[in-house]
This record gives sequence, C-alpha cells and structure tokens, in this order.
Amino acid sequence: MQASRIDGKATAAAVLQTAKAGGEALRAKTGVQPGLAVVIVGEDPASQVYVANKGRTAEACGFHSVTHRLPADVPQAELLALIDRLNADPAIHGILQQLPLPKGLDAEAVIGRIDPDKDVDGLTLVNAGRLASGQTDEAFVPCTPAGCMVLLRSVLGDDLSGKRAVVVGRSNLVGKPMAQLLLLANATVTVAHSRTKDLPALCREADILVAAIGRPHFLRADSVKPGAVVIDVGINRVPAPEKGEGRTRLVGDVASEEIATIASALTPVPGGVGPMTIAMLMANTLASACRAAGEPRPRF
Ligand code: NDP
Repeated sequence: MQASRIDGKATAAAVLQTAKAGGEALRAKTGVQPGLAVVIVGEDPASQVYVANKGRTAEACGFHSVTHRLPADVPQAELLALIDRLNADPAIHGILQQLPLPKGLDAEAVIGRIDPDKDVDGLTLVNAGRLASGQTDEAFVPCTPAGCMVLLRSVLGDDLSGKRAVVVGRSNLVGKPMAQLLLLANATVTVAHSRTKDLPALCREADILVAAIGRPHFLRADSVKPGAVVIDVGINRVPAPEKGEGRTRLVGDVASEEIATIASALTPVPGGVGPMTIAMLMANTLASACRAAGEPRPRF
C-alpha cells in the first residue's frame, strides 16, 4: 500500500478562500470588517517570520490587520495595557499573542488577560473549558488541532465512531485540544507522552495516529498500524548537508518514508499541518467578527 498524501496546502488555500468570501459577505451585510491584532515581543527570528506571515495572510483575506512589535524589555504592565486596549477596540475581533515571550514576562498572565471572545488562538482557560465541556459553538479551538481535524475529516468524514485514536503529546497547545476534538468526533482516544510505556505497541492500535512531539522522525514503522491515517504535527529543523554546507530542512515527528508503505494516508512536512494552522487563525477571526456582528458563526 502507498499512503495517500493529505494535502494541507490545498486544504488551507480552500479555507482561506472561504474566510475571504465570508469576510466580504459580512462586510457587505453589516459593515463589519474582520480585524486581527498580532502582538510580538522581542526579536526571536522564527517568531518574526510567523508574525509577518500572519499579517500578510490576514491582509490577503481582506481583514483589518495590525501588528504590535514591542521590545524584549517591555514591562509586563505595558504589555497588559496593550492587551486591554485591544480588548476594548471594536475594530479588533482576534488577538494573538505570539509565544514564547522573553524571560521576565508571564505568558500565563498575558494570555489570561485576552478577552476569551477575542482569543482566536484558543489558549485562555475559558476557551479550554468550553472545548473540554463540548461547547464548540462558543469555543475558539487552538488553530493547529482545529486544522488537523479539517484534514482528518477530508479523509475520514465527520464521524469517527469506532475508530481508535492515539495522540502522542499532551501540550495545551496541541496534544490536549487534539484529544478533545477527536473525542467530540466520537473516536476512542488515548493520549501518550514521555512517560508512556511501550509507545510503539500503543501506537500500533491506532486507526488515527497524531504525532505532536517535537522530535525528528521519532515514530517509525513499528509504531504504525497498517491502513492508519497519520497526522504529523511536528516541525523540526535538521541539518541537510546534501543541500550544501550549513543548510537545513524541515522534517516531521514521523519517519515518513518508512511509514508511507504502511499508513493509508499521511500529512507531509512541510505542506501538511503547517499551512492549516494559519488558515484556521483566519477562520477563527472571521468567526469572532461574525459573532460580534450578531451573524451566525461559519463552519470550516
Ligand atoms: P511540547 O514540547 O509542548 O510537547 C511535546 C509533547 O511530546 C509533550 O507532551 C511530551 O511529553 C511529548 N514527548 C516528548 N518526548 C517524548 C517521547 N520520547 N515519547 C513520547 N512523548 C514525548 O510541543 P508542542 O505540543 O508545542 O509541539 C509539538 C510539535 O508540533 C513540535 O514539533 C512543534 O514544532 C510542532 N508544532 C507545529 C505546529 C504547526 O503549525 N504545524 C504548531 C505547533 C506546534 P511530556 O508532556 O511527558 O513531556
């Protein structure tokens, strides 16, 4: 069997197209233009690239887009005051605080200050609670797991009844919300982590295997059930001497070449989950704007 490639780029492009059309329709009907504010503190180069990408994508969707760049030594009170201003700004429907924050700043306090109804990254306790209690009409779901679900649905449909799912990774950003979403779709879910015993044997039970570990090519052929659908969330930069001295490339948490003959479908890295994350940020921003305008929330 050769696994089919789950095309995150194409799916993300379709989500962005829908978000753009939805934003235009909302503006035409109510005058409300979806607005996204991204806040970045410090000079971390990877974060700078991500933030530039988010701003560009929001503009391409026709959204109002603002980026606030603060120095690494900004006082916590100043950052919180900016969040307060964005919470109160009617032109802003989504606030994203780029993480990680430089040392000395309390990320939990900053995230906790974001109005849950503008928390388009889904990281506040209120949105985590809404998701955990199944209030998906109210919740903003973190963008990466939300994107993984769109990809999974494109292969398996909406209802995962009878499927066994294993999520490797238990972070608040990816692993835990992913497990909640799979459960809501009726899968039988196990969450594995660094203390799990005999991980390959557990993973081999999975019809759906989600890898969110942060270790290059960590899950090998012995961790995959024949016919499984594999979602590789990992983004790891590794040396690529074949491209020239000092060059690097991105790889996932799954040894994709080994697995390609065992799984039935697999997300590539790059071009799988990555593009979905930013697309779902736009979807959440549109959803927030619709709610603010008293319009029904679009589904993606
Ligand atoms: P975290 O570091 O927060 O979590 C990693 C998880 O993997 C932890 O729960 C950890 O277990 C588990 N883990 C680590 N080592 C092992 C092991 N040997 N065996 C089993 N489990 C292990 O990472 P994130 O969840 O934030 O991200 C995971 C990956 O996804 C990263 O590669 C990241 O770059 C990528 N990512 C990709 C995104 C995208 O847009 N595609 C967005 C966000 C993340 P424990 O809790 O026990 O320590």
